[in-house]
This record gives sequence, structure tokens and C-alpha cells, in this order.
Amino acid sequence: MKILVINSGSSSIKFQLIDMENLDVLAKGLVERIGISGSKLSYYKKGKTDVIEQPIKDHKEGINLIISYLIDPYEGVIKDKSEISAVGHRVVHAGEKYSGTVILNKDVIDALKACIPLAPLHNPPNIIGIEASMDILTGIPMAGTFDTAFHHTIPEKAYIYPIPYKYYRKYRIRRYGFHGTSHFYVAKEGAKKLGKDLEELKIITCHLGNGSSITAIKNGKSIDTSMGFTPLEGLVMGTRCGDIDPSIPMFLQKNEEIDYKEIDRILNKMSGLQGISEVSSDIRDVEKRAESGDNQAQLAIEILAYRIKKYIGSYVAAMNGVDLIIFTAGIGENDCLVRKMVLEDMEFLGIHFDSIANDKAIRKYGVISTSDSKITVMVIPTNEELEIAKQTLKVVLNEEK
Ligand code: AMP
Repeated sequence: MKILVINSGSSSIKFQLIDMENLDVLAKGLVERIGISGSKLSYYKKGKTDVIEQPIKDHKEGINLIISYLIDPYEGVIKDKSEISAVGHRVVHAGEKYSGTVILNKDVIDALKACIPLAPLHNPPNIIGIEASMDILTGIPMAGTFDTAFHHTIPEKAYIYPIPYKYYRKYRIRRYGFHGTSHFYVAKEGAKKLGKDLEELKIITCHLGNGSSITAIKNGKSIDTSMGFTPLEGLVMGTRCGDIDPSIPMFLQKNEEIDYKEIDRILNKMSGLQGISEVSSDIRDVEKRAESGDNQAQLAIEILAYRIKKYIGSYVAAMNGVDLIIFTAGIGENDCLVRKMVLEDMEFLGIHFDSIANDKAIRKYGVISTSDSKITVMVIPTNEELEIAKQTLKVVLNEEK
């Protein structure tokens, strides 16, 4: 069976076609700059990359272009679109309703539309991608895997905010958590590497990318996570502020005489690494600048690492211990400096950091704690697409029974 995974963003569509017999990625790629100048499809199949630059007006054209490449007699990897057994879509926010991967039908899509106010940046393009692929791939089952789903097990004491309860009743304001597919995938992989059951472990997963979140996983279940009602809460991110005193937006609104839309832009797009360093939202640029003696760039990295360290400490307390800490995503998989800054001076917790192993674990699996460390620390590359494909296959086969 072949599963097509689609992750549809506001102006982009990422895709992978995976053969589930052997988990082989037959083709993958990215459509970028949909609806704006410079649109293109990057298409990778084994040993070969093509970049096709052409106007791509909307998501439907983007998906059509992907399919035309997948079935192309020369560049393609399948003969006909009917060889696609199912499509798995990544969806960011499913609200409180769905706790796993589900077959997409009108009711589910309506529920996702109802969640738009909770994820105004993410859900609309996800839904556009789903509707476009339903038009093009008629008759092929589609499933949605939700970023929020893995966090459905978080207990009330961790998801209810200490604001008047009536706002939870009225608007469902609560912690939802995101990056669930990634946290779940790396936790399972980590347990496998340790040779233990996920259900018997306490794990902290640090998904550190452009957006970052950290999750406490006890006995296989997410019990707390740093992103909340939206993906703005928690760690310092590329351009997002993470945790701040909630009175700061009100102070700025009054003193800068700006409206809530501008506040939203400041906290989501102008803060984090970008805001502190005034250099870039990409940690590679910030590190380069810090190396050349820029104090503000150095401070940005220190704040980012310090916040991760504090979250790890709080989740160890929440779980009464930890067996395994996992680093993943762009920064987690690549950035030895951040990992070192987080993990050093944590001996009191039982973390003994292996600096040589840390320098070697770049974009690949590696254990970065010493053999006598009470707590194991690993770098595990995430693979959300594979996890989505596996979950899609499971629900589609169940549906067929
Ligand atoms: P992601 O959101 O997981 O795709 O991660 C993207 C972020 O990872 C980028 O914005 C960079 O800050 C960071 N990143 C990617 N590659 C590297 C690298 N080689 N070294 C350090 N950071 C990296």
C-alpha cells in the first residue's frame, strides 16, 4: 500500500509518497510560494532532484502538479493515481473533539473549520489542502492526523488556565499542545533504542525547531506540554516569544497605542530569537553573530537554552523523575551548542553529558549522555510524515474491516 502524506501550509505544500510495505519514501518534495511570484515545485526521487518553476495559482494547482509528477512516465514513481491507497493530512488544531487520526468526512471538516479561531494561521491552509486533494483524488480515502491529538491525555490540572472558568466553558480556552505527532514518534523511537516499553518510561521530548515545544510523557501518555491554547506559549522560538508576563501585551497596547492585531504580530512574528537578537530568527545566523562578539546575539541563545533547561527541570518534578530526554527537529537535531548549554550543570538530576558524542550527533541518532549517566539523553531525527502515514494506514484498514 502506498500512502501520500500532505502537509499544507499557507503558501506551501510538503508531500511524501511512502510505500508501507518497506517504509520506503518513493518521492517527496515541496511546493512553495503558492499564489505569489516565484512559485515552484521541488521534487525528489531516489538520487534525483528536480526544481520546476512555474506559476502555481492555488493549492489545487499545487496538488495537481504534485500528482502529475508522481504519475509522470519518466519522473513518476507510480503509473496511476489509483495506486495511492490513502492520503494522510497533517492538521494543526482539532480542538477537543478528536484524539487520534480520523477518516476525513464532511463532519470532521466542519469541526476543523470550527477550530479556525483557535489556529487562524494553520487550520485554514490545512483545510484548503484537504478540500483540494479531495477534488483531485476522488474516491481515495483521506485521514487527518492532528498536532493536538497526542496531548489529549493531559490532565485537567495541566490544561485548565487559572482564568475565570466560564471562558473555558464559553470558548474552550485551555492548553491543547502541538507537535504531537513528532513528540509521539521520537518517544516511541527512543523507547525502542533503549529496548524498553514506552509504557514503562518517563520521557521528556524537546522538539526544537522554528517552532519549539517540550513534552512530559509518562507511561506512553503526554501529561504536560509547553505550547498551550495556541503555539505561542512555552519556549523561546524563531519569532515567537513563548512564556511572558501576561500583562506585557496590555502594557504595550496602552503605551504604544497599538491594537490587538499589532500585539499579535509583535508576539508571533517579531519576538523570540529574532526579537532579542535583532539579527535573525534562524539560530545559525544568531550563533555566527554571537561568535563575532555580539552580546545581544549571545544573550538570545542563552535565554533560549535557559528556558529549555527550566522546562526540563519542571517536567522532571511533574513526573517525579525522568529516564530519557530526547532532542529533535531543526535545532534539536543539529545544534550542539544549544544542547550543551541545556545539558551542562544538570548532574544533580543525574544527567552526565557526553560532549564528544554531542558533537558527533548531527542530523542523526546518537546518545549524548555518558554510559554512567542515570538519565539517558538522545538525539533522534523526527519523522512526522512517517508517523502520519502509519496512523493513516491503521485507520484506513480499520475502516475497511
Ligand atoms: P524546523 O522547524 O524543525 O524545520 O527547524 C528549523 C530551524 O532549525 C531553523 O530555523 C534553524 O534555526 C534550525 N536549524 C536548521 N538546521 C540547523 C543547523 N544545521 N544548525 C543549527 N540549527 C539549524
